[in-house]
Amino acid sequence: DGEPLRCIGCGAVIQTTDKTAPGYTPQSALAKGIDNQEVYCQRCFRLRHYNEIVPVGLTDDDFLRLLTQIQDANALIVYVVDIFDFNGSLIPGLHRFVGDNPILLVGNKEDLLPSSLRRSKLRDWLRQRANEAGLRPLDVTLLSAKTNQSVDHLLELIDKYRGDRDVYVVGVTNVGKSTLINQIIRQNTGKRDLITTSRFPGTTLDKIELPLDDDHVLVDTPGIIQNQQMAHFLTGKDLKIVTPQKQIKPKVYQLNDQQTLFLGGVGRFDYNQGPKAGFTAYFENNLYIHRTKLENAADFYDRQLGQLLTPPEADNTDFPPLTAHQFKTTVKSDLVFEGLGWITVPAGVNVTGWAPEGVAVLLRRAMI
Ligand code: GDP
Repeated sequence: DGEPLRCIGCGAVIQTTDKTAPGYTPQSALAKGIDNQEVYCQRCFRLRHYNEIVPVGLTDDDFLRLLTQIQDANALIVYVVDIFDFNGSLIPGLHRFVGDNPILLVGNKEDLLPSSLRRSKLRDWLRQRANEAGLRPLDVTLLSAKTNQSVDHLLELIDKYRGDRDVYVVGVTNVGKSTLINQIIRQNTGKRDLITTSRFPGTTLDKIELPLDDDHVLVDTPGIIQNQQMAHFLTGKDLKIVTPQKQIKPKVYQLNDQQTLFLGGVGRFDYNQGPKAGFTAYFENNLYIHRTKLENAADFYDRQLGQLLTPPEADNTDFPPLTAHQFKTTVKSDLVFEGLGWITVPAGVNVTGWAPEGVAVLLRRAMI
């Protein structure tokens, strides 16, 4: 009769075509539930039966509707970002929708950082970047959703700041939000019935609510897809090669000016001008780094892309050209290739970082 069928868990419109979008339900499961009109989408089904959140992504329009709901809610916002990809973690317009709601900024993937990196410096940097994006977080905390490191501290902070509010966890896809929610669920398992059926069936928008106490919930929201991520230029296999998987082991290169380092085929570092010096590279431990002369670099890249310089694989014809970002340092700095890692460079030198068009390259004060 025109009313779409909705999931009785999260309220998403049931659909059977897009596995990564809200409301996805396999055809077979739909056939079983449809008689009594009680259909759970696959995401809610997995949460009910396996205590596990499955990531979903939203299109821009739906995401705007979701943000509008947050604006109207009395919420503590937990904003999860990938510390290796702040730009790729940005939610466009978030500051406008936060309203008066307080924000906790969570930098995920701490397990990848070398122990020499000063955590307080990284937190300060994340706070600065948030400020640039118009956000004023109450607190900034680092954790690893994967290893469960400091997740308990986040829960303490949530308790400290939430007062009488519901908690909304927001983040773009790939930052590790689902992994984090699953850790939180694991810590609470056994205490309560995990999934609440939609309190106002048909009116909620694809959100999943986890009970915090009798009156309050923690809301997992779908991530928006951020196209400025390395993830969107590489195949799954290639992405695994460039994305740090374990704690990073720094590598030191003694460079003369007019030398170049290739980061596989996905990035390039030119030392344009300055004295012979040490440069420390922080990338995935297995990423192939190739040193060459600057004057030959462009030719070399054209010939060797997809051959010696991989990823990307030779058959990835969608891989965009690298674009140059030139900097002159005044203090010891990190040249950050978002999503990949960074190179620490001395003060008073002239360098260029290259990354696929759309992926940010930026300079920050050295963290080590
Ligand atoms: P979501 O799209 O934000 O829900 O992200 P996922 O939870 O699906 O995680 C995206 C990717 O990041 C997966 O490959 C995870 O294994 C990885 N990941 C998530 N959390 C961490 C973490 O704390 N450390 C590391 N090293 N990887 C993580």
